[in-house]
Amino acid sequence: MNGNGDRRIEVGVLGATGMVGQNFVKFLQNHPWFDLTWVGASDRSSGKKYREATAWRLDGTMPEKTAELTVEDCKPGNAPRLLFSATDASVATEIEQSFAQAGHVIVSNSRNHRMDSDVPLLIPEVNPGHLKVIPLQQRKRGWTGQIVTNPNCSTIVLALALAPLRQFGITRVLATTMQAISGAGYPGVASMDINGNVVPFIGGEEEKMQQETQKILGDLTPEGFRPLSAKVSAHCNRVPVTNGHMVATSFELSSRPGEADIIAALENFRSTPQERNLPSAPPKPIIYMSEKDRPQPRRDVERENGMTVFIGRLRECPVLGYKFMALGHNTVRGAAGAAVLNGELMYSEGLLD
Ligand code: NAP
Repeated sequence: MNGNGDRRIEVGVLGATGMVGQNFVKFLQNHPWFDLTWVGASDRSSGKKYREATAWRLDGTMPEKTAELTVEDCKPGNAPRLLFSATDASVATEIEQSFAQAGHVIVSNSRNHRMDSDVPLLIPEVNPGHLKVIPLQQRKRGWTGQIVTNPNCSTIVLALALAPLRQFGITRVLATTMQAISGAGYPGVASMDINGNVVPFIGGEEEKMQQETQKILGDLTPEGFRPLSAKVSAHCNRVPVTNGHMVATSFELSSRPGEADIIAALENFRSTPQERNLPSAPPKPIIYMSEKDRPQPRRDVERENGMTVFIGRLRECPVLGYKFMALGHNTVRGAAGAAVLNGELMYSEGLLD
């Protein structure tokens, strides 16, 4: 039971022909609540069958039902109410706003609206209460629809890993990423740059990790979002790994819990998606691995349908007190899977009625 009387609803994907769009198409096939019946893209693709408009770049073949859909213009008209957005960032602001104005519920993967003061930056396990800002968004903007966003793919790994530690008082965080090439879209980083190499720069990524983490782990007050007061510093690197972002994290806590208390907090962390049994929710949002050399992208990232964050190597940090390694699937938990779980939470809240 989905808490909604097992009612299936039609959904669409904006930017369905791109890399993230394809991940949505793949993630949504056989979804128990959502039927993908509408795909939109640019005028280069509209009017064509999805199979003709799309150079499929994911493992496995294109889902047959979607392949037969005709790609539409990204303009309000005949699209379903719930739309997952993976449009190019250069056009996402205008497209997403026009659909929200026309009454659509936009669950967006693009960066454009993430830091807006009336838009939730949502991780269902971490800050489901941030959805309460939606009535303000609709009043302020005169929309009957709404926009909800999911975080950047490395932020989501860090924010999920830190969420169970809020009870201990997080004061400072230093996060160093090793990010997979699939996070750069297609064709991504040139092979001459990434083979046997590390690229110590990903444009805008460090700022996003710092600001988005504070917004997600902060509170929604009557005056608006109050970011977590902890200082967050990020170093972001691209490494020759196909899927999976690693985040080497040092952190300072105002109370001084023992390592066993921290491991218990990580392992026992459950939240609204698990309580409501949402279809894409992992049984455990975080799995702590006790092996001394895990987690590893190739060995762990595909486990649990790519929706769990794996943490290991908790130990003392001489500078900030504690450190560990976190790993998450950048195109699943960091993109399509994150947005679909957001849609499921909103559906279970009655926000799509
Ligand atoms: P992409 O492969 O370049 O795909 C872009 C999509 O936007 C395509 O479907 C494209 O349609 C469509 N589009 C482009 N111009 C348009 C227009 N004027 N009107 C309507 N649709 C238009 O990009 P991507 O890597 O999937 O990224 C999509 C979004 O997700 C970006 O905002 C990106 O920042 C964000 N994101 C990406 C990742 C990642 O891992 N790649 C992770 C998180 C977030 P056509 O095929 O017709 O051109």
